[in-house]
Amino acid sequence: MSGCIALLVAAGSGSRMGGDLPKQYTPVCGKPMLRWTVERTLATGAFDDVVCVIGDGHDDLYGAATVGLALAAPIRGGATRRESVRNGLEALAERAPAIVSIQDAARPLVDGAETRLLVDHVRAGAAGAIAALPVVDTLKRGDGRIAGTVSRENLWRAQTPQVFDFAAILGAHRAAAQLPATQREVLTDDAGVAELAGLEVALVPGREENFKITTQADLQRLEFLLMPTSTPETRTGSGFDVHAFGPGDHVMLGGVRIAHGQALVGHSDADVALHALTDALLGAMGAGDIGQHFPPSDPQWKGAGSALFLRHAADLLARRGGRLVNADITIVCERPKVGPHRAAIVASIAGILGVAAGRISVKATTTEGLGFTGRGEGIAVQAVVSVTLPPGEPGD
Ligand code: MG
Repeated sequence: MSGCIALLVAAGSGSRMGGDLPKQYTPVCGKPMLRWTVERTLATGAFDDVVCVIGDGHDDLYGAATVGLALAAPIRGGATRRESVRNGLEALAERAPAIVSIQDAARPLVDGAETRLLVDHVRAGAAGAIAALPVVDTLKRGDGRIAGTVSRENLWRAQTPQVFDFAAILGAHRAAAQLPATQREVLTDDAGVAELAGLEVALVPGREENFKITTQADLQRLEFLLMPTSTPETRTGSGFDVHAFGPGDHVMLGGVRIAHGQALVGHSDADVALHALTDALLGAMGAGDIGQHFPPSDPQWKGAGSALFLRHAADLLARRGGRLVNADITIVCERPKVGPHRAAIVASIAGILGVAAGRISVKATTTEGLGFTGRGEGIAVQAVVSVTLPPGEPGD
């Protein structure tokens, strides 16, 4: 006998959280709960196969939840959790794996290290090993009023995974099925079935995070814990650039040619607005500045259209899976007047970046005659952008 199989119990039909959708198919951060559990179970690397036990009439829900995942065919559940597990074990009997891990679909935060530890216990000879937490709260017995205090010494809260020698737990379940209903009812987990058969089951300290999703509050806690790995992050970048006036008959601003009595001096086409915006985008990604990507000392950028620089930064963003949220650009000069060209500049920048014009803002101001812009010596531009980027690794 060889092999180690995870049996995920996902046959429940009720939603204790309201609505008609069975709990295990509730969307959590964009995926059905069952998919989170399956993906994390596959990622433990502990199993040769992962098999789900599903409810009657749930085939479509199951199919949609597990599309693209490498799973064995699902097994039909029974009227109770215990019967569902029994069906799963009987379906695996012909394969006769050495070890089976029985897990609740409603515990999506199952963890690789913990799972492997439990499997190792059974591999080392234990009949069973379960994840459990020592009780830390004081326990009271009562019905509205306290009738007594229960010692919490040696009391544990049983979780899943519950890992067993396959033949031993199959035999225990077959024996339990022969018991009178009153004795079967109290068997709410597989360790209980194993205990009744006289099997020794090890208690292995579990994790609080591996809680069972039962209420709306549990669901909210789960979404909070999963969010850092599923929600894009928003970043901000700022850019600033200045170019001086020199002889010429036009300036380039945001990719638009504007007739003017002077030109801006620069190595490229001196489009001060596109330079500031390029730096803002690079800044949001932590990707250096325009001078690092396009050194002024490199003759190939002489006279280059600055749209090239901005497109390069936008390509970097796209390759990292990012997206521009918005850009806000302030042009500071006395002349030329920007107002008449504002719409053309917005359209030009939106075109270069491939975004809707509504995401681009262009503003202009003078400095009331003060400073170098006030004296008409050049143009300054400030740009601020917001971008979204896929989340980093946890803890980065
Ligand atoms: Mg520049």
